[in-house]
Amino acid sequence: MCYDDSIVYNVISDVDAVITSRNISSYSEVLAMHNHGQRLIVELMQYIEKEWEAENSVFAKLKADKECMREYFVMVSQGLENSKLFVATMERTLEKVAVSAFREEMVLKTFREIRNERWLYDARFMQKHMDLYLIDLLQKKEVDKVLDYIDQPKRLYQTVLQRLIAEKVPRSDEEWRCFVVHLKQAIEKAALATLEVDSGRAQDFVGQLRNEFLHGYLQSELLASVFLIDCRDEYQDCDKEEKKEFLSACTTKLIQVIKNQKFPPKKREFAKRFGPKVVQYMKALNDPAALPRCDACCTMCKSLCIEAANHDTKLTPHDAIHQPAGIAGVHCSKSRELISTTCSQSYEQDQTFQLPNEDENVIHKFRDYAKVFNGWKDPRINEELPLREYILAKYNDDIAQKYGFKPCPEIPPNYFRDLSTIKRQLEREIQN
Ligand SMILES: [Zn+2]
Ligand SMILES: [Zn+2]
Repeated sequence: MCYDDSIVYNVISDVDAVITSRNISSYSEVLAMHNHGQRLIVELMQYIEKEWEAENSVFAKLKADKECMREYFVMVSQGLENSKLFVATMERTLEKVAVSAFREEMVLKTFREIRNERWLYDARFMQKHMDLYLIDLLQKKEVDKVLDYIDQPKRLYQTVLQRLIAEKVPRSDEEWRCFVVHLKQAIEKAALATLEVDSGRAQDFVGQLRNEFLHGYLQSELLASVFLIDCRDEYQDCDKEEKKEFLSACTTKLIQVIKNQKFPPKKREFAKRFGPKVVQYMKALNDPAALPRCDACCTMCKSLCIEAANHDTKLTPHDAIHQPAGIAGVHCSKSRELISTTCSQSYEQDQTFQLPNEDENVIHKFRDYAKVFNGWKDPRINEELPLREYILAKYNDDIAQKYGFKPCPEIPPNYFRDLSTIKRQLEREIQN
């Protein structure tokens, strides 16, 4: 995670959503919820700060280098030869970064694997994957889990996205072998290029290594950046050594460092931990052609926004394919019965609504949806969501119980569907 406006936005909309769905209306309770939201934002920011500091602060860097500095001190104090000192420094530098550089390369490779996947950039297509995931849960009789996911669509999106990404993470064992080969080649090429120089050999070798890491096959900025070492004054004695011997010592020791790394871990664990890093990378890269979806959702029916992450709501407001609102606990304020219409149908029928955190005399028109919900488009997309209709029809009583209201008295007849037919249809659409 990194500092991002969406953190504040998401907490505010989550808190608002809870206020709406739990029908909280007393001033003191709403105030308590807002204070809670404020605390959450501060906690999240502090967490992000802590994570960053753990990796980047001066203290963290000193701590990470403590052992290296101590060893270096011991070697110098023991009067170790200049060239051996140089090789030892190179070894430790590579040792420190090899695995992270590999992880970084895996993030990039996974990103390249998924960047053209339709589920990444097409919200309607992703919805089909999410619905299939919910169908699996329903078939395992995990109805509560399904209703919770509908209540927290962001969590559903993240779960399904991570599963889809995990399927695309390249095999870590094969990739590691390939990475090792390229790393060795880069080291050997750097040594070969250094053979031609007579003075400033240590510095030249470091420069050639950086060049190979950055512009060779690996193209790793991380590897190149750690070898940004100034050796001009410190290792002049290396020039006195026999050139070939010096370079072969460097090469052998560095390659040994790579051989000593215990990698890779088990493929499944690795793929699991990887998804969030890839998502973070994509969001930071912010390439409009390869971004995950925005995770804002409709305050009323909890349908997810269909635009891309980071979209500017001033240019492109949030928009959604609204689902039968009762599925997320939306109910008639008088009868307390769940409603079966979508926000778009209510818009068409010029219906009104109230918000639980407002005075009960305040009544809004669905036609004013975009004015009431800042940053959102009016609900104008009218598309069927067969699974969501099925869930409202089939689990009407369970939903009513979950939210503490009455079941919907008039479920439209077309909502009663056959689950396996819905599943087959979704699978067909995904395959096409
Ligand atoms: Zn809606
Ligand atoms: Zn959005």
